[in-house]
Amino acid sequence: MPNEVVRLICPNLQCKSILSVPASARGKAVRCRQCGTKVHIPMGNKTPAAPAEVKEPAA
Ligand SMILES: [Zn+2]
Repeated sequence: MPNEVVRLICPNLQCKSILSVPASARGKAVRCRQCGTKVHIPMGNKTPAAPAEVKEPAA
């Protein structure tokens, strides 16, 4: 998904703007356009770690 976008809310309680950043910005920090607060983009925000389903091949 090349155009994946990560949405997060500005941590500034007086701002709370919704920031849309490209998924490629994960692990980096961006600045909120409204207030200039630095917002850290967490890794893998949209993909919750699901336990891998292991299936044993039928013998
Ligand atoms: Zn902000």
